[in-house]
Amino acid sequence: MASTSLFTCLCGVQKKTSNHWVLAKVTARGISFMPWDSQLAHCDDIIVLCGEGCATALLSRSLGEWKQADMAMEATELTAA
Ligand SMILES: [Zn+2]
Repeated sequence: MASTSLFTCLCGVQKKTSNHWVLAKVTARGISFMPWDSQLAHCDDIIVLCGEGCATALLSRSLGEWKQADMAMEATELTAA
């Protein structure tokens, strides 16, 4: 029997063959989305997402984090001045 690897989305949904899943990768410089690739999905730094909804949620979360980092940086600049 072939190894059946189970993928779970951030939202807790488990992948079934019929799902249209996507992959995301968060790096220090940003975030990338890519089509499902079963090889790539095994990588530690890859986030598996069950679809557009969760991809959008991850994107907006990242945008929020960037905004916070940006504000923190501005605050540091103000203090330094
Ligand atoms: Zn999901």
